[in-house]
Amino acid sequence: MKKISIKSEDLQKYSRQLILRKIGISGQKKIFKAKVLIIGAGGLGCPLILYLAYSGVGNLGIVDNDKVELSNLSRQVLFTKKDIGKFKVSVSKKFIKKISKKINIKTFTKKIDRKNIHRIAKNYDIVCDGTDNFESRFLINDYCMKNKKILVSSAINKFDGQVFNFDFRRKTPCFRCFMPKSPNEELNCESDGIMTTLAGIAGSLQANEVIKSILNIGKNSHGNIMIFNALDSKFRKIKLLRNANCKRNCIYA
Ligand SMILES: [Zn+2]
Repeated sequence: MKKISIKSEDLQKYSRQLILRKIGISGQKKIFKAKVLIIGAGGLGCPLILYLAYSGVGNLGIVDNDKVELSNLSRQVLFTKKDIGKFKVSVSKKFIKKISKKINIKTFTKKIDRKNIHRIAKNYDIVCDGTDNFESRFLINDYCMKNKKILVSSAINKFDGQVFNFDFRRKTPCFRCFMPKSPNEELNCESDGIMTTLAGIAGSLQANEVIKSILNIGKNSHGNIMIFNALDSKFRKIKLLRNANCKRNCIYA
């Protein structure tokens, strides 16, 4: 039997995607070369990682210092009961290898902080924020702005989700324009609750924004907030305006 070369295997594997005129072989090559960092392998990170891996993103970094718990198994779709007690990054890496051995994966069993963010994120062009606290969100926003990265961020609570895409290589408002300071209370899925499918929708939308940014196709979502409610099935896109009081002087004109 004729041995299928790696190249023709990939042609077959990604055929349904690269047959699309807006993607093609050149687009698929861009996806193979892309470098994407995912911060947080939780409810958002799991579907995000899955769809990026299945799309063929060639270089993935995953940052998380949590271990799998029983309460994660209702929505964190990379994990099963036998993974309880294991680091989320290790289980995720194993899962991705099953999807494609070619994906170059780096894992960081860390909580992102001021001291480690540069070392972790410097080699990635696109950073995805799927963290669950404002301290990390502000830190990631400020780092991406300073280092001109693309930031695809999402937040979910109860039945509501928001997705942002900030391309800091261009003039754009930032996350602090939308949320100048931490609210008094953190939104918390432990106490507030979260609809399982909402995490899937938001993580998939983040993956969609990442792929669009890699390929530079579709409607530009930069500087917009996508807001949706899982019960109304309503999506709204709102242009985010620069907040004149934004501490970070985010539009570097
Ligand atoms: Zn700003």
